[in-house]
Amino acid sequence: MPVYEYHCDKCRREVEITQSISEHGKGAVACPKCGSTALRPLVSSFFTQTSRKS
Ligand SMILES: [Zn+2]
Repeated sequence: MPVYEYHCDKCRREVEITQSISEHGKGAVACPKCGSTALRPLVSSFFTQTSRKS
């Protein structure tokens, strides 16, 4: 499953969340650290192209 990177406004840190594509499409995502849904996706083609392979 793909890993998405978000910035949590509550933790003020970046978190990685593994989501299925269908889950990602729904936009229902919560911070794994604090449970906040105040997450902003880090949309960066740079990251997706250079991130480590899973
Ligand atoms: Zn958080």
